[in-house]
Amino acid sequence: MGSAQNGHLIIIGSGLAGYGLAREFRKRDAQTPVTIITADGGEAYTKPMLSNALSQNKTDSDLVQKSPEQVQSELSVQIRTRANVTEIDRAAKMVTVNGQKESYDRLVLAMGADPRPTGLGDTVATVNDLDDFRVWRQKLAQPSRILLIGAGLVGCEFANDLTSAGHQVILVDPAPWPLGRLLPEPVGQALASALTGIGVSLHLGASVAELGDGKAVLKDGAVIEFDHALSAIGLIPRTALAKEAGLLVDKGIVVDGWLRSSDPSIYALGDCAQSPAGLLPFVMPLMIEARTLADVLTGTETPLRLPAMPVVVKTPCLPLAVCPPAPGAAGTWGVEGEGRDLKALFVSPDGIELGFALSGKRAAERQALAKSMPTVLD
Ligand SMILES: Cc1cc2nc3c(=O)[nH]c(=O)nc-3n(C[C@H](O)[C@H](O)[C@H](O)COP(=O)(O)OP(=O)(O)OC[C@H]3O[C@@H](n4cnc5c(N)ncnc54)[C@H](O)[C@@H]3O)c2cc1C
Repeated sequence: MGSAQNGHLIIIGSGLAGYGLAREFRKRDAQTPVTIITADGGEAYTKPMLSNALSQNKTDSDLVQKSPEQVQSELSVQIRTRANVTEIDRAAKMVTVNGQKESYDRLVLAMGADPRPTGLGDTVATVNDLDDFRVWRQKLAQPSRILLIGAGLVGCEFANDLTSAGHQVILVDPAPWPLGRLLPEPVGQALASALTGIGVSLHLGASVAELGDGKAVLKDGAVIEFDHALSAIGLIPRTALAKEAGLLVDKGIVVDGWLRSSDPSIYALGDCAQSPAGLLPFVMPLMIEARTLADVLTGTETPLRLPAMPVVVKTPCLPLAVCPPAPGAAGTWGVEGEGRDLKALFVSPDGIELGFALSGKRAAERQALAKSMPTVLD
């Protein structure tokens, strides 16, 4: 490990990106003072567990891997919890935290993403962090009817998990099959059958027009009665603070291949960042980003490289792995296999394999297949 090279490093965010970076940074630099500022409780946990914890009867405390105090002493960093950063003053190199100023030499934004608003009022829950999970779990003390809005990755995982935990799920999505943006029809239909098979009530090609107390009206006029509503319609990178500070922001906080924002003293990674590969709100890319940024911050200027990174969908009713083609890529899906055991390949007009979706027993082929997929970023 090296000695202190630079002054104070501040990391905003204690999610997998913020803590992942701190861990990687400390492997390379034991001396530089590091402060992690987080709006939440600062517990280290694996966010993907939020969508398969109920069926395993796990509480929010069960999901905590380390307290902030443990992380603080293991990594020799300062952690400020329940501390909200409200302003970045780039000229003075200061952040405002709970009304007080703190100075930085280098600043890392690892601020995650907010749930996309539903426009249906605040009775619709979202589960995007441990605090949300605690509140949501408390609501579900009794078996309940749950209106679940959104059949994307997280929505399908919640549908499987809630059903396995004894709740009755009514899943609504405008797409014609679940995971409509990621899966070709045959694999999507296999997932629809598997979800229906465990008891999920699917309303596809549908959306919620109105939501009142325990009752939703769909655009086609169908009325759904429920006890609790949960939205899983996606996330929007947290960019407001960066934008107000004058940093370049597009869909996320724009960073180059070295995770540098438009200000050379400020970096970003994880769900809030938009690298040259675009938005990649998954664990594998943020872990690679954390290693790259730790190198950059300690003087090794190796740019970000991202291999193909298949995502395993946590739907035990139908094991699934997807490696979507790049957005806008030209090509067609070809599907082989039978019943629920399917292998779909997305192939370009000149015969190059650009993506895949695997279900059932074929999901086991994901690692071998990932090797033949194009890299996401060279
Ligand atoms: C239910 C669910 C299931 C998922 N399952 C998978 C999966 O199976 N596989 C996969 O690869 N990915 C999965 N994902 C996505 C993955 O979990 C995320 O990509 C990842 O956890 C994002 O980490 P992050 O550190 O960028 O953001 P976050 O974990 O959201 O952390 C953001 C941090 O920033 C802090 N913060 C924000 N604003 C401020 C502020 N102004 N001041 C101070 N602190 C601030 C927050 O308090 C928080 O600590 C899932 C996501 C969800 C929601």
